[in-house]
Amino acid sequence: RRTPLIAGNWKMNLDHLQAIAFVQKLAWTLKDAGHDFNTVEVAVFPPFTDLRSVQTLVSADKLPLAFGAQDVSEHESGAYTGEISAVFLSKLECRYVIIGHSERRTLHAETDEQVAAKVAAALAQNLSPIICVGETAEDLEQHGPSAIPVTQLRAALAHVSTAADIVVAYEPVWAIGSGQAATPEQAEQVAAALRAVLVDVLGEDVAAKTRILYGGSVKSGNIASFMREPNVDGALVGGASLDVDEFAAIVRYQK
Ligand code: 13P
Repeated sequence: RRTPLIAGNWKMNLDHLQAIAFVQKLAWTLKDAGHDFNTVEVAVFPPFTDLRSVQTLVSADKLPLAFGAQDVSEHESGAYTGEISAVFLSKLECRYVIIGHSERRTLHAETDEQVAAKVAAALAQNLSPIICVGETAEDLEQHGPSAIPVTQLRAALAHVSTAADIVVAYEPVWAIGSGQAATPEQAEQVAAALRAVLVDVLGEDVAAKTRILYGGSVKSGNIASFMREPNVDGALVGGASLDVDEFAAIVRYQK
């Protein structure tokens, strides 16, 4: 059985001082509740400028939380003003990095080719990419539920070898920040199609151990229904990850 992963994508929220307070409170809230971090893994994705503070805190207090960045450069080093290398993230003990979030694809015109290059750059530094895929409302109407996510995932895996440690996140664009989550059945249908791509490209073994997350208006009130689906192995949470008690309640969905 795959270990569920609950991941909080903070987007452009919480400065480094707020991040320290937040991560401390989150760790204590979950410990107080008796959370078993081996049963449900917890990860946070702060802005780049918070990562050093989060790393320092997590390592000093030995907190059982994973963390990562929200994006990474496809290049290792050089004249790329404003970009952040996977080498730097790896040195900061990031375990994961979100790649190809729909906000990067739409607001920053990231292409499937760039996403694939970023996935390769992350894996080269032993970072586990959380590859985001998802369709817009118009895509859904024109192409049906899984066509776009399947195409995006195939493209993102262009340079991935069979043993790669990856996570996939299905985030329908129409469900992000809208309060209108997909139904558990919709999430499962697409997650199953994405797992079939993993089987095809990476083989049965890797597909069986790769976690597929659902993201888009996940809250404490709907998380359990997604987690009951056989191909949904966790959630990528935006807005609801910015409130410690709400995020902790999502992590504690079994209770
Ligand atoms: P919301 O949970 O705010 O809908 O955002 C989802 C998301 O984009 C996570 O990456």
